[in-house]
Amino acid sequence: MNQQIISSHVIANLVIDTIANQQALISLQKFNKGDILHSFSAKEILETPNYLTLQIAANKHILLQPSFLQYTNHSCQPNVFFNTTTLQLKALQDIEIGTELTFFYPSTEWKMQQPFTCFCGHNNCIGRIEGAENLPKHLLPNYKFSLFIQQMLAQ
Ligand SMILES: [Zn+2]
Repeated sequence: MNQQIISSHVIANLVIDTIANQQALISLQKFNKGDILHSFSAKEILETPNYLTLQIAANKHILLQPSFLQYTNHSCQPNVFFNTTTLQLKALQDIEIGTELTFFYPSTEWKMQQPFTCFCGHNNCIGRIEGAENLPKHLLPNYKFSLFIQQMLAQ
């Protein structure tokens, strides 16, 4: 492993892969599906998104407090969900110590500022990640979405 710990937090270490130069959150605790890992709040509310923000409404994008949570990477098979209504980070599946915490970016993002091609490696990987706006309809039942995204999808 080429991981170095940048900082330690109650639920996870923020690590960096020194070869890929990629940061990740690695769980320090065991969680069961449905557990609340942490609560969060808005350190700042921005009108336009960036690669660290979480969308809560049409023109509202929050910077997370505590800020280490902003390093939660995307996966097409996520193990956590940012509930932007209750402001709680929730486990979508059982999480073992040492597991990377990941969430599905389109679960909160309608149209991403920096679309990218996912290489998460899961057999259900959807490839291009652009936001909920561009998700194929048949995939929608596979994922949990924020209230805002649910409302947008319903339109
Ligand atoms: Zn993927």
